[in-house]
Amino acid sequence: MAEQYDEHISTSTALFERARTVVPGGVNSPVRAFASVGGTPRFMVRGKGCRVTDADGNEYVDLVSSWGPLILGHAHPAVIDAITATAANGTSFGTPTPGEVDLAEEIVARTPVESVRLVNSGTEATMSAIRLARGATGRDLVVKFAGCYHGHVDSLLAAAGSGVATLGLPDSPGVPAATTSNTIVLPYNDIDAVRETFAERGADIACVITEAAAGNMGVIAPRDGFNGVLAEVCGEYGALLILDEVMTGFRVGPAGVADEADLYTYGKVMGGGLPAAAFGGRADIMSQLAPSGPVYQAGTLSGNPLACAAGLATLRHCTPDVYEHLDATARTLRETASAALDAAGVPHRVSVAGNMFSIFFTDGDVYDYDTARQQNTGAYAAFFHALLRRGVYLPPSAFEAWFVSAAIDEQALDHIAAALPSAARAAA
Ligand code: PLP
Repeated sequence: MAEQYDEHISTSTALFERARTVVPGGVNSPVRAFASVGGTPRFMVRGKGCRVTDADGNEYVDLVSSWGPLILGHAHPAVIDAITATAANGTSFGTPTPGEVDLAEEIVARTPVESVRLVNSGTEATMSAIRLARGATGRDLVVKFAGCYHGHVDSLLAAAGSGVATLGLPDSPGVPAATTSNTIVLPYNDIDAVRETFAERGADIACVITEAAAGNMGVIAPRDGFNGVLAEVCGEYGALLILDEVMTGFRVGPAGVADEADLYTYGKVMGGGLPAAAFGGRADIMSQLAPSGPVYQAGTLSGNPLACAAGLATLRHCTPDVYEHLDATARTLRETASAALDAAGVPHRVSVAGNMFSIFFTDGDVYDYDTARQQNTGAYAAFFHALLRRGVYLPPSAFEAWFVSAAIDEQALDHIAAALPSAARAAA
């Protein structure tokens, strides 16, 4: 059990009490509740650069970055200026706007997609991509991988990792068995399982959806050319491959992982901290969407001007230099953390996909959901709280990525390095 302490968090504690009377569990997304690490979630009131401040005035170096979107750090001046200037002219029109064309062009220029539709969340993006894949192929079955999370789409809430794993819920009540009966769940990184499944049911499979690199069972990179094999097998059987880059897109590189696929989904970074997401891909498939085609998809606030402005400002600042800096920062962090854990004799595995990484508290090889779940979550909770007390904000779950931002500077790295040895001892 995580150590409990309540010094200097009286305002967060009171807010959590108030929240719990009017919001289920006191939070608007489950992992925020600290359920798996214990203790009181911090209610944040301010962020600047790589630091966030909670309602009690405690400051933390932020390694969550709003679960990925804030790649440039908090309140980046270019992003705030873009939002402010856009808001001054109105917040939403329900008409086409120039900003959404700019953002769509930027996405098409950076990624393999030829045509893209903007939506409001990663969940909407994957839900819509699946509908499109089913409409385009005239087939119903969807293949997903255990531990991969694609948002809370009914048909994909089967062995969905992260929030679900964190809370120990295998699936969700409220999802009809008939819905998930069209979902085949296979072990991540298991090429043989994919080939066998296609050999049996390939003619009925509409699509395979996979995280471009898994980030929701902790970070686990595809291995042995896994994504490439998926593209090849899908091509062979006339199924579509959906590469979910909601987490990796524009984060691990200018486009994302950008392996070959038919459709891609994006979110997080492309909204710059506001709600924007997208799905896109081959023009011949995308043209089957309404109004040019029969597959229906829509949204009152889709392509919202503020979200497009924030996203565009963010993407335009994500230059090759920024990605180099992110890579270097992530490398330093994971090496420093691993050294501290080694020194304290704590078994762990550092698992990396670009500038995203997780530290699994296990001495076994981690390559899929089962091996990820072998880790010692109690050790992570102790490590998490020891760092929190020393002003470092890690994801409040052992099954999440550590997200660096370009705003992390030498001073922040020094601060984390100073906090790590005692946190590692707390995890021992
Ligand atoms: N897909 C992936 C890979 C994600 O990591 C997430 C969210 O974490 C989603 C989809 C869902 O995105 P959203 O939370 O914006 O609905």
